[in-house]
Amino acid sequence: MKIIKTAFAIGLILAASTALAERNEEDLNGAEKSGSEVSAVTEFDLVILNGRVIDPETKLNAVRNIGIINGTISFITEKNISGQETIDATGKIVSPGFIDLHMHGLNLGAYRMQATQGVTMALELESGVLPIDEFYAGQAKKNLPIHYGAAAAWTFGRIATFTGNAPEATAEYFQNAQGASNWKEELATSEQLDKILKEVEEGLEQGALGIGINAGYAPGNGHFEYYSLAKLAKKHGVGTFTHVRFMKGPERNNAFEAFQELIANAAANDVPMHICHINSSSQKDITHTLELFEGAKANGELSSTWWELHCQWHLRKVGLLAEDAHLLWEPAKSQIVAALAEESRQLRNELYRWKLSNIKRIESLKRQVELFIEHFDDVQRDQMKLF
Ligand SMILES: [Zn+2]
Ligand SMILES: [Zn+2]
Repeated sequence: MKIIKTAFAIGLILAASTALAERNEEDLNGAEKSGSEVSAVTEFDLVILNGRVIDPETKLNAVRNIGIINGTISFITEKNISGQETIDATGKIVSPGFIDLHMHGLNLGAYRMQATQGVTMALELESGVLPIDEFYAGQAKKNLPIHYGAAAAWTFGRIATFTGNAPEATAEYFQNAQGASNWKEELATSEQLDKILKEVEEGLEQGALGIGINAGYAPGNGHFEYYSLAKLAKKHGVGTFTHVRFMKGPERNNAFEAFQELIANAAANDVPMHICHINSSSQKDITHTLELFEGAKANGELSSTWWELHCQWHLRKVGLLAEDAHLLWEPAKSQIVAALAEESRQLRNELYRWKLSNIKRIESLKRQVELFIEHFDDVQRDQMKLF
């Protein structure tokens, strides 16, 4: 019996989908088994029945039953199967755990919210964070329900260099620097550039997943600085994640120019440079920027194998197989549900305490509403005079 390993996330059954996809009856690289093979297995540990199964790897998108043995998907079939445990996924989607490359909330609540939406790995790559050691140590204490990771934040390196405040791995560090304009607008001297690159490189050495280049926040950086970041990424075998420095608008200093710069740096360094939201940066210039992007892709300047080359490598580095990412979900489920219940209990208590301490205000508000209703006709008449 061949065990099929796929990247399915057990139990990641998302919001109901009423429109069921047309059944895809193609041969799915052996992912589906014939009836005789299925019946040879007496019982599965777990079966997920009647879900709309979506697997990007095999392009399967149809209602199927899934049989799991030892935490691994063994069969995906239209036949009836049974197991020690059954999940009825009728009207729901069963899919791999999503990997979110673009998230910013670093607190427990943000990750819990992601988990409830089927995300099993949430990565802060666009902005990134520094110091990376501090980030991982801090997140480890939060008992997060899903995988997490971050890029080395170029903006943090710039803030540290221009303001003299050493980086702290918090959202507040970035927010508190918003009042200063030097790190956003000024060109770095060669000494400053060295310091910025050193900060970022330290992050990479500490295990950052790439370089976060939130250039929209510091559009005044030099072209050589951006090029140097791409070169640094190449040196460390990682990609970059850019929110480009300019938005739509007439030339100069527009999105087209910013994407052209990104593509040139990617090509010159032979390094994957991820574009964060080409749509919202380009807006009405999207046809021009897409043409640029598609042209570069067609001519082989942009790597489409970033995931294969780099993400997988990082997963291996931490001893995690991509297809095993789902294993985290099941044990975390009860924890998430309990935590949510606890939060709702606290909220109810807070609301109750607020009601008690504001009883006079509430009474007076009630009275005002009553008065308004009592005198509704008068009020209306008064209002009429105004027009
Ligand atoms: Zn963002
Ligand atoms: Zn952005």
